[in-house]
Amino acid sequence: ALPVLAVVGRPNVGKSTLVNRIIGRREAVVEDKPGVTRDRVTYPAEWAGRRFSLVDTGGWEVDVAGIDARVAEQAEIAISLADAVIFVVDATVGATDTDERVVRLLRRSGKPVVLCANKVDGPRVEADAAELWNLGLGEPYPVSALHGRGTGDLLDAALDAL
Ligand code: GDP
Ligand code: MG
Repeated sequence: ALPVLAVVGRPNVGKSTLVNRIIGRREAVVEDKPGVTRDRVTYPAEWAGRRFSLVDTGGWEVDVAGIDARVAEQAEIAISLADAVIFVVDATVGATDTDERVVRLLRRSGKPVVLCANKVDGPRVEADAAELWNLGLGEPYPVSALHGRGTGDLLDAALDAL
């Protein structure tokens, strides 16, 4: 079986946009209204000549009570099934309590993690991305999933971790 790379993070940080960018198709569902992706969707992917399975996660309603627990629950399942994880944070927002909760799960899992500081569309947001060093997950990779910026370096790191 191919190695499994899971993309986790709270709703609306850009996970599906990143997955679309990596697979080069527009199959992972992206909408402004979050909550349209099924819990886990797996896509065959390839980078630098290596094939792997890429797992997009999501599918919960953001506005419901207990969203924090729901994100954590789904992230925990995806992490347990993965060989390595891309953890996506919205650099324009910074780390939220929900993000911190996922960080604890990631640490406990012992799985290799690559931190994606997404929505770094321009140099002005780069300082915000650097603040994510504070999460203790190592280097935050500045990425704009929307424009494709930084995804190569992110994938190099993720594939190294696989
Ligand atoms: P998900 O819920 O984590 O899967 O997030 P989506 O991929 O559905 O994206 C949520 C919203 O963020 C959409 O409106 C995307 O267009 C937007 N988005 C995703 N990546 C970026 C990015 O790099 N920059 C900006 N400005 N917006 C982004
Ligand atoms: Mg999504």
